[in-house]
Amino acid sequence: MKHYHCECCKYSSHIKTHYEKHLKTKKHKSFAEADEVTDKVDELTRLLNENDELTRLLDEKDKQLAFKDKTMKMMQDRFDRIDKLTNKQVEMMQNQIDKLMQIQIDKITNS
Ligand SMILES: [Zn+2]
Repeated sequence: MKHYHCECCKYSSHIKTHYEKHLKTKKHKSFAEADEVTDKVDELTRLLNENDELTRLLDEKDKQLAFKDKTMKMMQDRFDRIDKLTNKQVEMMQNQIDKLMQIQIDKITNS
């Protein structure tokens, strides 16, 4: 004898028409819908787990990139400092040259 079974409602019958009638009941429809939601939740959970793995990988990449950014920033800061130092030094040298020039000019004009 054939056995008709509805998994989501745990309903079973040996009579096909009873089973078909069951499929049209509100009870079955709500259970089937709940089942569908559960399936979707399962699917979403699976995707989220996959996403977790992806997020973890991306986090590692982010960390690597953050490290790279930090290193780049540190180097940039150093270059900036060298730039400032050089500018300051250039300014100091320029001032010294100006002073020396002025002294020479003074010497010439006063002689
Ligand atoms: Zn059912």
